[in-house]
Amino acid sequence: MINVTKTYLPDKNKFYSYTDKIFESGWVTNNGQFCKEINERLSDYLGVKNLLLVSNGTLALQLAYKLLNLSGDVLTTPFSFVATTSSLVWEGLNPIFVDIDSKTFNLDSNQIEKKITPNTTAIVATHVYGNACDLERIQSIADKYNLKVIYDAAHAFGVNYKNNSILNFGDISAISFHGTKIFHTIEGGALVIKDDALYERAQKMINFGIVSPTEIAELGINSKMNEFQAAMGICVLDDIHLILNSRKIRYDKYMKAFSNSESLIFQKKNEHSTMNYSHFPVVFESEEIVLKVIEELGKNGIVPRRYFYPSLNNLPYLTNKQIAPNSTDISSRILCLPLFDSLEEEAQDFIIQIVRKHSKLLRKQIIL
Ligand SMILES: *Cc1c(COP(=O)(O)O)cnc(C)c1O
Repeated sequence: MINVTKTYLPDKNKFYSYTDKIFESGWVTNNGQFCKEINERLSDYLGVKNLLLVSNGTLALQLAYKLLNLSGDVLTTPFSFVATTSSLVWEGLNPIFVDIDSKTFNLDSNQIEKKITPNTTAIVATHVYGNACDLERIQSIADKYNLKVIYDAAHAFGVNYKNNSILNFGDISAISFHGTKIFHTIEGGALVIKDDALYERAQKMINFGIVSPTEIAELGINSKMNEFQAAMGICVLDDIHLILNSRKIRYDKYMKAFSNSESLIFQKKNEHSTMNYSHFPVVFESEEIVLKVIEELGKNGIVPRRYFYPSLNNLPYLTNKQIAPNSTDISSRILCLPLFDSLEEEAQDFIIQIVRKHSKLLRKQIIL
């Protein structure tokens, strides 16, 4: 079976050499030596300061909202993984959807201002498939209306915008290191926090607000990364160049194979940002074709994913029904094809063949 992604697992013995050390020291969590090491190496690799490791990307988002003291309405994108919205609802915030640009798939910055009210406190936008949002425009709108900006950068590992890490934009960026992401720590995530004082507060907040054995400074939670996660991170980061290179080769192969297809649409990339080949999304002409392609690939054990479906404004637990026509349309017609470092050539050729055949075949029927 071939899924949309496959977790990269490093050399077993290398990982064991780290876990052996954890067994020897007996220190399994609470900012141990491997958490310190991966924090330092990631900060360096990504080009960021104030990096805070946490136990997953969803908690990174929730912590960001708490740290920035958000309340009331938050403008956000309907086209993202469910955690972007569910984290807001979980924290008692009211998601207000700003529709996406149907070319970039990111929140459409031209539609932000008309959704701002006196209740709006922040903008939460996702760099969809690692594609940089309209960073400067979003910041200038936020400055004008005194709003906080949080980026869900779960897909944006290693992406730079104008030679600067994309994680350095906004008040806080939240990133995920889940096993399905390009870089992972099994489960895990991090915040990149612009403000130094806020970063210090965040360090306490993820450990119950404890500052010393006898002093608790403020309300906190437990969202620490542990040493086993950090050890996995160290091993994966050692191989990150190989991972990215293999993904690029496979990404380019898809792109080349589909380059003269009239019936497929691809994401428009931000021209100032680098790519990390996190996903290979394809937009078909109709939902019917998407379902047919899924069916045909499925017969051969290949499982693409409808990332992202449904459009988040349609989540059943939202009480305030909102429309987002572009997001609803794109989410009904988009499919992420399998893309990972060890995807074999033969399998990829087969996926290409199926996609070509059925997008064309059905297209003719629709036109007729
Ligand atoms: C994966 C993902 C998350 C959640 O991260 P976890 O580490 O799985 O909690 C949030 N937002 C987006 C866009 C994601 O893709």
